[in-house]
Amino acid sequence: MSKIVFFCIPAHGHTNPTLGVVRELVARGHQVWYYSYNTMREKIESAGATFVSCDDYDMEQKLTPKDSVRVGKDLAFSTKILVDTTLALDDKVCADMEQLKPDCIVADSMAVWGKAVAMKLNIPFVSSTTTFAFNQHSAKIMKQGIGELFKMVFSMPKITKQIKRLQDKGYPVKNILDIIQNDDNTHTVVYTSPQFQPCSETFSDKYAFVGPSVRPATSKVVKKRDKLIYISMGTVNNNMMALYKRCLAALADTDYQVIMSVGNLVSIEEFGVLPENISVFTHVDQIAVLQQADVFVSHCGMNSVSESLYFGVPLVMLPQTSEQGGVAERVFQLGAGIKLDKSDAVSILGAIRKIFADSSYTQNAAVISESFRNCSGAKGAADKIMQVCKNVV
Ligand code: UDP
Repeated sequence: MSKIVFFCIPAHGHTNPTLGVVRELVARGHQVWYYSYNTMREKIESAGATFVSCDDYDMEQKLTPKDSVRVGKDLAFSTKILVDTTLALDDKVCADMEQLKPDCIVADSMAVWGKAVAMKLNIPFVSSTTTFAFNQHSAKIMKQGIGELFKMVFSMPKITKQIKRLQDKGYPVKNILDIIQNDDNTHTVVYTSPQFQPCSETFSDKYAFVGPSVRPATSKVVKKRDKLIYISMGTVNNNMMALYKRCLAALADTDYQVIMSVGNLVSIEEFGVLPENISVFTHVDQIAVLQQADVFVSHCGMNSVSESLYFGVPLVMLPQTSEQGGVAERVFQLGAGIKLDKSDAVSILGAIRKIFADSSYTQNAAVISESFRNCSGAKGAADKIMQVCKNVV
């Protein structure tokens, strides 16, 4: 029996793919501890792990709203937050690890404190990556700025100061890339297929592309018309009433059945009387809807896109962040969706009609679906973790 410790940030999209892996490890008789935040407690415990709360040590929760806007835009500031969180957790986590003596630490690529403590205490480590794996090749294809990273490393004395704070506490970190980027020697589980991952051939054999983990549907959606269109902008930045109204205007009284999930930040009453072909919900069983859908109008969160393609559903893509832009770019490259620069009603309806008129979008989505279904899944991720525990890789 091995002892495995997970670390994650408080985001469903980063936590959900790991839960099947936790279940698999527990079913094989291993013990799992999971350091995360109270909002994730229930699902982590029900997967069979011992939950350890990091809430009292989370620097992000002490940020003012003005500060929060800077995270993700100001790299020096973001580094400070990551270092603050690592140092806030330092005493507790180091003491816990000395006592537990885990065989392996598995940390989400954004929960850098997990990787830092594995480096400090020389514990075997596996990175868990719920977005695409990142190196200079994939970054170029995804049009993401590795230049940004280098700019950060070389031109920001403020970051050097933060690295010094980690070094003073015994973390063997030479530069920021050590913790925020995985090199070819880092064992890494990536929750996508080698076909969907850009430039997968440029990653070392330490990378395991295990495919997305798609949860089972808990309900059944009945299709009422020939074509079903599903619309969702995810669960985080989904306060987008103006866009939802444009979707309504585009699709009202068409031949299509439309299901729209709008989140709980907008009021459904504000839509007034809905056309007969359109239903609006705060939340849906997205897996059940995608099993019936013909097109997904999406913000291109990695989970939504993976789920859509898993069921062979092509996408109309309205990415809102650079990460979503990278995912949308990949779907576009593989011909499984249309990326819109403008989200007016005419463009949305035009893209949907184009997908219905050209079967290549659905065919290309089916090819990606096949690549996902051929992956090793949670079992493959658990195998990778066990190999690292036993030091056989
Ligand atoms: N989701 C859902 N019902 C909804 C809207 C979203 O079950 O009505 C789920 C969806 O299946 C996916 C997750 O929420 O697993 C959204 O994750 P994604 O990475 O796509 O976007 P985020 O919400 O993180 O922006």
